[in-house]
Amino acid sequence: MSDFFNSSLRQLGDALRTKKVSSVELTQNYLSRISQYNQYINAFITLSPEVSLAQARAADARLAAGNAEALTGIPIAQKDIFCAKGWLTTCGSKMLHNFVSPYDAHVISQFNNAGAINLGKTNMDEFAMGSSNETSHYGPVKNPWDMARVPGGSSGGTAAAVAARLCAAATGTDTGGSIRQPAALCGISGLKPTYGVVSRYGMIAFASSLDQAGPMGRSAEDLALLLNTMAGFDERDSTSLQRDKEDYARDLNKPLNGLRIGLPKEFFAEGLDNDVAQAVEAAIAEYKKLGATVVDISLPNSKLSVPVYYVLAPAEASSNLSRFDGVRYGYRAPEYTDLADMYEKSRAQGFGTEVKRRIMIGTYVLSHGYYDAYYLQAQKIRRLIAQDFTEAYKQCDVIMGPTAPSTAFKLGEKGDDPVQMYLSDIYTIAVNLAGLPGMSIPCGFGANNMPVGLQIIGNYFDEARMLNIAHQYQLVTDWHNRAPQVL
Ligand code: GLN
Repeated sequence: MSDFFNSSLRQLGDALRTKKVSSVELTQNYLSRISQYNQYINAFITLSPEVSLAQARAADARLAAGNAEALTGIPIAQKDIFCAKGWLTTCGSKMLHNFVSPYDAHVISQFNNAGAINLGKTNMDEFAMGSSNETSHYGPVKNPWDMARVPGGSSGGTAAAVAARLCAAATGTDTGGSIRQPAALCGISGLKPTYGVVSRYGMIAFASSLDQAGPMGRSAEDLALLLNTMAGFDERDSTSLQRDKEDYARDLNKPLNGLRIGLPKEFFAEGLDNDVAQAVEAAIAEYKKLGATVVDISLPNSKLSVPVYYVLAPAEASSNLSRFDGVRYGYRAPEYTDLADMYEKSRAQGFGTEVKRRIMIGTYVLSHGYYDAYYLQAQKIRRLIAQDFTEAYKQCDVIMGPTAPSTAFKLGEKGDDPVQMYLSDIYTIAVNLAGLPGMSIPCGFGANNMPVGLQIIGNYFDEARMLNIAHQYQLVTDWHNRAPQVL
């Protein structure tokens, strides 16, 4: 049985279809591994073993009937930002500590329709605001490679769960780097699709023009199967794109001869740790062996992406989070004098410090007199940042660089310094501002034996090609197969 914890999704699917294992056995085994290790890692915040096992029994019936799909019977963990009918859905916040969703997010129903098992909900930074998972109301997640270090954020529970083999694969969301940065810090693979490829319906909103859900798993091949299930038009999200259904695994085996890799000089400048630079450079050298050529490019406005993001994302968040008022659902202060007092106390007690900071910044930059100076300026620079990529793609097919400037830092190390924390996403944020697809794959280890991630940024709708590029690297390297020695 223990072999299955290291199997790819395709292997698991084969094992299920040929009855080497049943979905119930697989699910039980993951649940017992979770009950053994989650107390140390804190990756899962809600489990419903009876619900998961009932889904597994249904999957076994479907497998027996011979109408299984690629993910039927496979246990998948869901970031707690996705509403799942009958499941506690907290978004890492006290504000939603008692919220049981009455409906399924599009992503959840896609997995349900595919017959996948919802193994549980994973921990995350509160309302997906953070880069270390330390802002969760449910306590920090520990990096399985070193329990004294952060797993990254905001999809840190998912990243830690995948790395520690507590699930076969999982979902994340990425507003400024929250799939790619934790994937890098935990030594797994993760992909943020082009904005609009995956429906945001039922995904609790942080910054709606940037939020995008995506798959997190151990290999590019696994991500392709997950994205096949997650992607697709949904009329309930007005930004969901109406495009023909794609098979994201279709190009996995194409050779990379002639691939032009753009290396932005801004991604290899001051602020990048040496150990990360070395691992990334070694990965680029490997790509040259696979037939790629390297082009030096520049993304001159990318240095403005962090300040632009910290105007736009809080502005959108302040609006999105106004719905949490203690009236309809979620936390309500136990004592108050009148309606206004009830709003104030519920929000003061229900939200954590980082969320309050963002609401304050957001309402400030949107207020009369500051709107033009901050919000409008930031929108203009957002356009310039996107144009940099359009220019760059005239010279190259794909862009590569580090995912994060350092490997996983210690718990508590950056907690008091929001700007230092915000800089964790310096290489990932521009991709969200431009709406482009980006991914991170493991490419080695740095200081203290902590994993390093290689970022691969594609042009719009290049997901299949990016997965091809990542898969070819994973065929000749084995970083993605390394597992932490959990405890
Ligand atoms: N770390 C960034 C933030 O705190 C990005 C978070 C995300 O992508 N959800 O906003």
